[in-house]
Amino acid sequence: MSELKLKSGIFQPIEKEGEIKLYCCGPTVYDYAHIGNLRTYVCEDILRRTLELNGYKIKHVMNITDVGHLTSQADEGNDKIEKAAIEQKKSTWEIAEFYTESFLKDIETLNILKPHIMPKATEHIKEMIEMVKKLEEKGYTYKTDDGIYFDTSKFKKYGELTGRSFEQLNKYLKAGMRVCYNQQKKNITDFALWKFSPENEKREMEWDSPWGIGFPGWHIECSAMSMKYLGETLDIHCGGIDHISIHHTNEITQSECATGKKFVNYWVHCNFLLVESKKMSKSLKNFYTLQDVLDKGYGWREIRYLLLSGQYSQELNFTLRNLEGIKTTIKKFGEFMTTLKDVDFEKNCIDLEEIINNSKENFLKNLNNDLNTPEALAVVFDFMNKINKFISDRTLVKEESEKCIETMLWFDKVIGLKLEEFLEETEVSEEIKKLVEERESFRRGKNFEGADKIRNKLKELGFQINDSESGPKLKKID
Ligand code: AMP
Ligand code: ZN
Repeated sequence: MSELKLKSGIFQPIEKEGEIKLYCCGPTVYDYAHIGNLRTYVCEDILRRTLELNGYKIKHVMNITDVGHLTSQADEGNDKIEKAAIEQKKSTWEIAEFYTESFLKDIETLNILKPHIMPKATEHIKEMIEMVKKLEEKGYTYKTDDGIYFDTSKFKKYGELTGRSFEQLNKYLKAGMRVCYNQQKKNITDFALWKFSPENEKREMEWDSPWGIGFPGWHIECSAMSMKYLGETLDIHCGGIDHISIHHTNEITQSECATGKKFVNYWVHCNFLLVESKKMSKSLKNFYTLQDVLDKGYGWREIRYLLLSGQYSQELNFTLRNLEGIKTTIKKFGEFMTTLKDVDFEKNCIDLEEIINNSKENFLKNLNNDLNTPEALAVVFDFMNKINKFISDRTLVKEESEKCIETMLWFDKVIGLKLEEFLEETEVSEEIKKLVEERESFRRGKNFEGADKIRNKLKELGFQINDSESGPKLKKID
């Protein structure tokens, strides 16, 4: 078996026989996720599925940020959830609950495996306070008028993940700064561990603490929750690349200072989904939610496939034209599966065993090469092309076509397009059956206009009809 090579090195688990400790930064639940956000979660899903295909057991934790994430990563601006609550005239708790549900629905729609544990920040305030107390005891913190801060000058390795030193980062951030920051901060890179509620103002989400009533900083929640569920050192930590410079740098800093141990062995950062060469983002208003794209008539498989069509560490462009092209690709998958189901020729195919073994080996090799999904998909296509050739030569017995189905379902353990659904028989009424027969007789009589009319009628009734080698196939439209 090939080894899994990640950007940060060949993967070696902490425990050879135990579970892989996988932590992924989850959503801030103040709005719908856009498909740029979802690209990151699909990438993490591919990582988890690849680890599983390599035989590892995984413990996958993803937090839900339902409190205190300010509009800037660097502790400035408004609380995103509070802002949404004011705009939508709802409570912060209602906003958080609503968008948590919508996120869970999105990941289910895209067939992203649900993390085993999804802790909410609001349910782990105690653990966060404990961690801040520990950092305070060790002398890493100081107080300003608006909160308790971490003194980043005290951590020698500060900024290592970014490739810049503490001094370089401070200089760089100062040069790029447009707005006034908390003047009481000792260093620009210092970050809030605990923020005080504004005086004479009661926030909906606030808690008592040894330092006063307030709410936790964003970064501390990931350290406290990942450690609670996975221990002090994680195998793999994931997130979007925009988290490298502040959020993940600060997570490392506070975690390693609290425990004296290495926090993360491997980092996996997903690059951006772009729209016309710009990052898809809420602030640029160039985003699509999952529902936006589904409403345009594309299926979830097309969207998932598009997100797999680029390697995660590269930027990926999103266009509706790409999605349009992928429609044909998904159709090919469906036709291939339904054709295989009915294939039962008399002649054996001599090389099949070798083709299957080589394809599986190459598929895994590409995934193990830093999750190279486009190359892995190319292997699947190569396999389908070879088998299609056998089918047109009428050399594939039933037992062999079943092996091909098994192979496709094995690929699907990672690509996650629910290919098994193409094999399911569609239950249809007598009326539908009659329409299908009528269309067949039109087709036989070369009355294509009449056949197309029935195709449209079936569509209105919720069925798509595809013509395959072994006759017409009906599929329920989602
Ligand atoms: P947020 O809910 O804003 O914290 O974002 C959730 C995740 O999506 C984070 O890991 C971000 O880094 C990631 N993300 C945001 N925009 C994009 C994008 N255009 N492409 C890929 N990932 C993104
Ligand atoms: Zn995080």
